[in-house]
Amino acid sequence: MNTQEISELKSLLNSPKKIVIVSHKNPDGDAIGSSLALFHYLTKTNHLATVIVPNDYPDFLKWIPGQDLILKYESQQEDCNQKLDEADLIFALDFNAFHRTGNMETVLTNNTALKVMIDHHQQPDGFAKYTYSDVSMSSTCEMIYNFIDYLDGLKIIDSNIATAIYVGIMTDTGSFRFRSTTSATHRIIASLIDKGADNTMIHNQVYDTNSYNRMQLLGCALSNLKVVPESRAAYITLSQQELQQFDYKKGDTEGFVNYALSLNNVVLAAIFIEDLQQGIIKISLRSKGDFSVNEMSRAHFEGGGHTNAAGGKSDTTLDKTVEKFISILPQYNIALHEA
Ligand code: 5GP
Ligand code: MN
Repeated sequence: MNTQEISELKSLLNSPKKIVIVSHKNPDGDAIGSSLALFHYLTKTNHLATVIVPNDYPDFLKWIPGQDLILKYESQQEDCNQKLDEADLIFALDFNAFHRTGNMETVLTNNTALKVMIDHHQQPDGFAKYTYSDVSMSSTCEMIYNFIDYLDGLKIIDSNIATAIYVGIMTDTGSFRFRSTTSATHRIIASLIDKGADNTMIHNQVYDTNSYNRMQLLGCALSNLKVVPESRAAYITLSQQELQQFDYKKGDTEGFVNYALSLNNVVLAAIFIEDLQQGIIKISLRSKGDFSVNEMSRAHFEGGGHTNAAGGKSDTTLDKTVEKFISILPQYNIALHEA
């Protein structure tokens, strides 16, 4: 986003606007955090803002200030369509293409409101008039902080905004440990604490509110963990039956794939989760070093994301998906040994 674009957006936001903020399907901490941070900022600066997400999100995010005002397209389509129809401006946060919004793809594609994209995923589509895309950023939340700074709004950041931004940076950086975490990220975190983000409370709300069932499901996932040593890869499977056995709730499998990646001498990890309702296997891929799971997912699993974290899917069975994964590994052996 250049200075010309920033000054155009600034003058646009000088008078009250009707604004809709949307993020991706299966919203995560960064999607919800960035949306609510921008929501509070815009509300405090006299706009009429609404956050719409395509579908529900995990309970460990259902405490962030303002989350009770979020509209869900899957269950509140009429209200959402009205807000979208009336919008002067649509902010698209934490996704790079409309198909990432699932059931909102068509309505967003056809909507003629002015669009602003703020996102850190690779290969952004060009749907927005104003695009702030930076794949080196830890999170969309870090970009929201910068965006507020560009608008000269840092003084407006209160504890609600600080808390929401903190959540997204924390969850997208694996608690400040992924390579995208920079000294600038930490400086922003420090200023968020100064502005009222309660770091201990936030960690506790997100990571220390597990149900007993979720812990049992993790045990099941770990006992299904397999290693492919010649490819420095490891993977986990979870069948629908196993999910049901432990009363699976949205978000319960969040972070499981990182246990596979934490193995010594493993640089590529995958989790394959059976979703009989959608008729797909949901895939999460993670890597260490330079090995790009974004490219692997784009080439084989209809997905994408970042170099070290990507998602994807497969339309066949759990067993066949695992077979496919194992069969493509040899072509990556050199890269996996160099990673
Ligand atoms: P997760 O494995 O946690 O679902 O996703 C990891 C990262 O990849 C996240 O940043 C997520 O937004 C992105 N991602 C997940 N699924 C897809 C997909 O189907 N396409 C693209 N482009 N990115 C994805
Ligand atoms: Mn993100």
